[in-house]
Amino acid sequence: MAVTAQDHTKSYYAATANDRTSYPALEGTVRADVCIIGGGFSGVATALTMAERGRSVVLLEANCIGWGASGRNGGQMIGGISGEAAIERQLGKAGAKLVRDIRYRGHEIIEGRIAKYGIACDLKHGWMEVAARPRHMMAIRAHFEERVAEGEGQHLELVEPQDLPSILGTSVYYGGFIDRRSGHLHGLNLCLGEARAAASLGVRIFEDSRVVALEGGAKPWVRTERGRVEAGTVVIGGEIFDRFGQSRLKGLMLPTGSYIIATEPLSEAIAAAINPQDLAVCDSNVVLDYYRLSADRRMLFGGRCNYSNRDPKDIGASIRPRMVSIFPQIKDAKIDFAWGGRIAIVMNRVPVIERLAPNLYVLQGYSGHGVNATHIAAEIVSDAICGVTEKFDLFDRIRHTRLPLSDWFGNQMLALGMLYYRLRDLL
Ligand SMILES: Cc1cc2nc3c(=O)[nH]c(=O)nc-3n(C[C@H](O)[C@H](O)[C@H](O)COP(=O)(O)OP(=O)(O)OC[C@H]3O[C@@H](n4cnc5c(N)ncnc54)[C@H](O)[C@@H]3O)c2cc1C
Repeated sequence: MAVTAQDHTKSYYAATANDRTSYPALEGTVRADVCIIGGGFSGVATALTMAERGRSVVLLEANCIGWGASGRNGGQMIGGISGEAAIERQLGKAGAKLVRDIRYRGHEIIEGRIAKYGIACDLKHGWMEVAARPRHMMAIRAHFEERVAEGEGQHLELVEPQDLPSILGTSVYYGGFIDRRSGHLHGLNLCLGEARAAASLGVRIFEDSRVVALEGGAKPWVRTERGRVEAGTVVIGGEIFDRFGQSRLKGLMLPTGSYIIATEPLSEAIAAAINPQDLAVCDSNVVLDYYRLSADRRMLFGGRCNYSNRDPKDIGASIRPRMVSIFPQIKDAKIDFAWGGRIAIVMNRVPVIERLAPNLYVLQGYSGHGVNATHIAAEIVSDAICGVTEKFDLFDRIRHTRLPLSDWFGNQMLALGMLYYRLRDLL
């Protein structure tokens, strides 16, 4: 049965998008140096990078640009990538250096593009991790001291428990640390802006063009329902759960739901009382709460609703009590939007940046930490396609666990795992 494209989920982001894209669907056969699958940050950032380097690029998106996690996320631009400990464990000193070298590379790329292409996406600096348990503060302190020893102290501030009330209008945490180099933005508008920039450089973007089959090797090709691309290189660019018959993608990425509510715009006084520095905030739990204010002063509060791995019936009813337990000041605020998306978790949390076959690359699996990491991965894959493989080779060496399970069983395992972490968070 034909799968038809879908419009954006009804989120705060879709309601405040700068524009509504209308790229054509692919019909017939086209040729390009690079064919990229996926119109989220991974795919769009790769397309833009390759176009900036003079390559001809086709980008295929099943729905519309920014339809997936990139257009729905919390908008937190956080330094580093997920799975850093596993990278260091597996690659030793080279891994530690890689982690340090790329920590803010995505930020640099995003900031550069915002400036170069005039992308209006509400970027603000300032991000904070707050300690949800006293023992978490010990880990935060150790992390802070390690980063200062690495020479990154200029971006970071340790917040002692007694200083917290001047930073956030809540008393539920045990301290935290602020990273002034990180921050928050409107993800959908960033993605749309990068796509517009890519198109202006000649990238041929096709929406409503779901890829149904592909092949790497000497003569790579990609097939959609109504078209075909013949390309020098194919990139599976994003958290795409179709596997296109690639056995190495099986059991690799497990989808888990994450959900966000957006309140009505808050008064200036309330916003100043709860988050006077306009920080993006994550708590230190594995199954975490994350929140920030939007440019029009709504509270965007996100987290997980349940452990069944099924979408909840009423996202607002599920998330709102947690928001109110942290900020009772906004208990009466109306919820204007509630939506969800899928976070792609890989077992060791390290993003998958690999070559599946000659001329066939994949980048995906950011484990909930993708705004910065997608842009880093897109550059690393673009470099590899252009023959610069130093960082790519390190990621390619990472061993990933692939669960030898059906999708149904994998999801049950993930739900159980999340429940385990939630219970551990509560101790
Ligand atoms: C609710 C939520 C909150 C989050 N909050 C944050 C946050 O605050 N900070 C952070 O750093 N990260 C966050 N993340 C994670 C981050 O958003 C993702 O890691 C990142 O956006 C992934 O980008 P992507 O391009 O790889 O995938 P996506 O943005 O999901 O893009 C994949 C695209 O591929 C398309 N596609 C799928 N199948 C096909 C096919 N067969 N053919 C063609 N196209 C196809 C989809 O329609 C989609 O548009 C969050 C994620 C969610 C879901």
